[in-house]
Amino acid sequence: MSTRLQREIVARNPRRKSAVPATAGVPGVFLDRDGTLNEEVGYMNHLTRLQVYPWSGEAVRKLNDAGLPVVAVTNQSGIARGYFTEELLHQVHEEITRQLAAQGARIDAFYYCPHHPEGPLPAYRLACRCRKPATGMVEEGARRFHLDLARSYLVGDSFRDMQLGFNAGLRTILVMTGYGRGELEYHARQWPRKPERVAENLLEAATLILEDLQARSPLVGATSAEPNL
Ligand SMILES: [Mg+2]
Ligand SMILES: [Zn+2]
Repeated sequence: MSTRLQREIVARNPRRKSAVPATAGVPGVFLDRDGTLNEEVGYMNHLTRLQVYPWSGEAVRKLNDAGLPVVAVTNQSGIARGYFTEELLHQVHEEITRQLAAQGARIDAFYYCPHHPEGPLPAYRLACRCRKPATGMVEEGARRFHLDLARSYLVGDSFRDMQLGFNAGLRTILVMTGYGRGELEYHARQWPRKPERVAENLLEAATLILEDLQARSPLVGATSAEPNL
């Protein structure tokens, strides 16, 4: 890890006390947005439709306190379809950031895919490498935060999220919010591969992640994560 990047991460994680040598990749957490951090409302085409789950602040703060970079990865083909603009998307992310900050929580980066291979807007009509379950956004986050993907997590409410996790070699957690419960109840039997864990919501997922990290590698995050367990 370069000194500059290291400084950047330390600056973004002021409470970080990593036991991982600077040369090794660190574990991180990738979060789906709609149905995982906030209510799934279909296309989020107005800021007034945003409802961050009441437990998301505590969940993200737990991950922050453990020194885990938290990266949101979201498909937003509504942009390619002309339903809303990137400008609105940025407003939504700013509002999520503001609401989480009020609870002492921080998402280190938001990545979104605005594309769709058959969208009506030529600027976004693209068979891209970022639309989940393709791994472009995860790779970008891994580079930026120097993540060890095999020790990192993907939390999401759809099978597509789980497929992204499988494709990128992440540990997968399906949450029961958003599409999650329906996905599990009506579709999971046909899935060729199942998520590693199922959690009621993002807060339970965060707890599972911290427990899992402790169990697999007691040094990692032990100092800062312990009080939350
Ligand atoms: Mg979702
Ligand atoms: Zn894309």
